[in-house]
Amino acid sequence: MKIYLNGKLVDKKDAKVSIFDHGLLYGDGVFEGIRSYNCLIFRLKDHINRLYRSAQAIMLDIPLSKENMIKAIVKTLRANKLKDAYIRVVVTRGEGDLGLDPRKCKHPTIFIIADSIALYPQELYKKGLDIVTVATRRNINEALTPQIKSLNYLNNIMAKIEAINVKSEEALMLSYDGYVCECTGDNIFIVKDSELLTPPISIGILPGITRGAVFDIAAKRNINAKAVLLTRYDLYTADEIFLTGTAAEIIPVVKIDARSINKGKPGKVTLSLMEEFRRITKIDGYRYNA
Ligand code: PMP
Repeated sequence: MKIYLNGKLVDKKDAKVSIFDHGLLYGDGVFEGIRSYNCLIFRLKDHINRLYRSAQAIMLDIPLSKENMIKAIVKTLRANKLKDAYIRVVVTRGEGDLGLDPRKCKHPTIFIIADSIALYPQELYKKGLDIVTVATRRNINEALTPQIKSLNYLNNIMAKIEAINVKSEEALMLSYDGYVCECTGDNIFIVKDSELLTPPISIGILPGITRGAVFDIAAKRNINAKAVLLTRYDLYTADEIFLTGTAAEIIPVVKIDARSINKGKPGKVTLSLMEEFRRITKIDGYRYNA
């Protein structure tokens, strides 16, 4: 496996960063998870824009133009001869000293890994997920806005641990005041009276690229889709629930907090969105030659 590391393609065994890198010492950095499907990188521009916005928000200057970042991603895919891939782009503050001061980090570290990923086992796409609301609240906007896709994922990991501890497949996180936010690596939607409802970005969630794709599919199909505040009541009384994310794509939820949704079966609307999503990943993307 070849890894892109600071401008060079290196073997996985040589892809090493300093233990003084602030990405490691403090989670000071940003990242993206991107997918390619049969030589088409899905919504690449959206991912690149989110990466650069995350970096801008933490005053981290990425020493590569967006065009050169795209070239680096394609170079990594080609070096690994990958047609279908999960691509991880990471930009850290770089090597510094033991203090927090980001000014001591002169050169951001950039690496790109292109590999495969299976977030949930394939059978769960047919059966649907059983998820739980956890006590760990999503980070508040005023502390560390979830809009920044930063290397600080401890909030999500704490929530994931809670779900694992009760043998659940995924954790739903609420805002500090009890509104539905998102799962640990996915956005959440409900279907209610043939409408799609999902929490607004302002409640403190990552503006998911897959979430955006679902809005686009809904618009094309004349399905009403709205970002509104949701409570657990809305989830418990939903006709259908599904999660969206680059790694997970669209996955049905059939149980939440031990309550069955749609009699414990993936719903019609979810299944048709999954099918349409699969279709657009085959035609909508940034083309490259593996
Ligand atoms: N929320 C969180 C916390 C995530 O980590 C992710 C995955 N990046 C998502 C939502 C889904 O976002 P996307 O569709 O852009 O992958």
